[in-house]
Amino acid sequence: MYSEKLYVFPNSIHKHKDSDFCIAKTEENEKVMIVSGPDKVAFDGKDILAFGKSGKQCPLSSENSLIIRELFSFTNPIRHKGHKISIGLGDRLGLASGGHIRLLRNLDVFPVLAQQSMRELNLTGRTYEDVLAAAVWAVFQEGYTKGFGADGDHLKTHEEVKYALDCGFTMITLDCSEHIPNGLDCASQAEINTRYADLSDDITGELENMYLNKTVSVDTNTSLSFNSDDFKRIVLVYFPAVKHAIDIFNNQVKGKNVDFEISIDETLSATSPQAHYFVANELIKHGVEITGLAPRFVGEFQKGIDYKGDISGFECNFSVHAIIAKMFGYKISVHSGSDKFSVFPIVNKCTDGRYHLKTAGTNWLEAVRVVAMKSPELYREIHSFALSNLTEAKKYYHITEDVGNIVDLCHVSDHMLPDCLNQDDARQVLHITYGLILQAKKEDGAAMFRDRIFDVLNVHESEYYNNLEIHIGKHLTELGIVVNAKGISVEK
Ligand code: ZN
Repeated sequence: MYSEKLYVFPNSIHKHKDSDFCIAKTEENEKVMIVSGPDKVAFDGKDILAFGKSGKQCPLSSENSLIIRELFSFTNPIRHKGHKISIGLGDRLGLASGGHIRLLRNLDVFPVLAQQSMRELNLTGRTYEDVLAAAVWAVFQEGYTKGFGADGDHLKTHEEVKYALDCGFTMITLDCSEHIPNGLDCASQAEINTRYADLSDDITGELENMYLNKTVSVDTNTSLSFNSDDFKRIVLVYFPAVKHAIDIFNNQVKGKNVDFEISIDETLSATSPQAHYFVANELIKHGVEITGLAPRFVGEFQKGIDYKGDISGFECNFSVHAIIAKMFGYKISVHSGSDKFSVFPIVNKCTDGRYHLKTAGTNWLEAVRVVAMKSPELYREIHSFALSNLTEAKKYYHITEDVGNIVDLCHVSDHMLPDCLNQDDARQVLHITYGLILQAKKEDGAAMFRDRIFDVLNVHESEYYNNLEIHIGKHLTELGIVVNAKGISVEK
C-alpha cells in the first residue's frame, strides 16, 4: 500500500477525521500501527512515509492503545450483561484474540477477550495494562465493532479489584475462596453446632427467620429445604463469603457500569443448591447486583481435558443451579470450561442458552501445537522441561495426570509431535507448566523459551489463528452454536 515491505491487515484500515490508521506487519514480523494525518502527533513512534503522506510507525504498546481507545469507541471494552451467551477467552500470550474474533465475529456470542487472574498475571509476567492492550489491538486489527469484555478474573482483594477497574476492565470475578472455610465441609455435626452457637444473635436471628426449616420454591417443580443441620453448615461456610462480596461491591463496584460475578467454585466439595440459593439471596437482599455466579459443580473440571464424572449426575446438579440463577436473573457461570465437551450440550439445554463460559488455557495449548508443527526442536525442549518441572507447577494447579501415559518423544517423529497435544496427560502437563515455561531463564538471564515461542507464533500467526478457530469452534459446536468455520461446520 505505502510500502511493499509491510503486510497490512485488511480489516485494520480505519479513519478518524483526517487521519488514516492501519495495523501492519513488518518484514521482521513485528506488528505495528501506521498512522498518517493530524492524529499522529499523539502517538509514540517513528516518522515514516505512509499513504503518500508523512506518517508514523507506532509500537502496539499499552500507552498507544489508550489513545486508540479515545479515538475509536469500539475499541473500549464493555459489559456482557444483556447478551445471552458470553464466553471468556483468556489469552495468556496476548496473541490469540485475533483468531477468536475471526471465529466469533458473525455469531451471537459476546467475547470476553481479555480475561486473566492474578495468578496468571504473575505466572506470565504480564500486567492488566498489557492484557487489555492486547485485546484492544486485536479488535482494531480485525475491525471488530460488536463489543468485547475484559474480565479481572478470580480477584480476591480490594486492591486487586481496584487495579483491574482502574485499567478499564468491565467485569470483575470475585473469588470468595479465602472466605470459604474448606475444613467445615466435612466437620462433624457436633462441631458445626458448637461453632454455630458462637455466632452472634444479630446474625443468626435474621438468617433463621429467613431460612431455618423453611422450603423455598425456585420454580414450579423445584423447591429447596433448609433443615437445621444443613442450614447451620451453610451459614458457617458461606456467610463470611457473602460479607466479603457485599464489602467489595459497596466499596469498589457499586455505581460502575461493570459485570460483577461471584465465584464460589474453588472449594473442595460441590456447592449444594441450598448454598447457592443462600449466597445469591443474601447478596441480592443486600443490594449487590450480580451478573453471574459460579458454583462448584459435581464431578471434576480439570484443566485442559474433558469433564470427569457421571454425566447424568452432572445434569441433575447443574439443572438446579441453572434454575436458581434464572430465578434471580443472573447467568450461571461455568469456569475451567476449556474442553468440557461432554457437558456442553447440558449447559446449553439447562440454561435455555443463557450462560457465561470461561475458557483460557487451551489457547496456550494451541500455541504449543503451532510450536510442535513448526519448530519440532523447540517443542521437544519445552516438552521435556515441562515434565521435569511438573512438581513445581502442581503447587498452583490440581490435575490427575499420569506421566506414564505420555509417550517418550525419542519414539515420536517430528511430524507426529502435534499429536502429543491430543493426549490428555500431556495436555495437562503442558497446560499447567505455562508459567514456568514462559519465565524460564538461561544462566545468562536470557529467556529460555519465551522469545523463541513468540518468534514462532509471530511468523506462523495464521496457523495459530487457524488452530484456535478449530479448537474453540469445537466448543461452540458442542454448545449448539452453529459454527461455519474450518471444516467443523455443523447444521443444527
Ligand atoms: Zn473459577
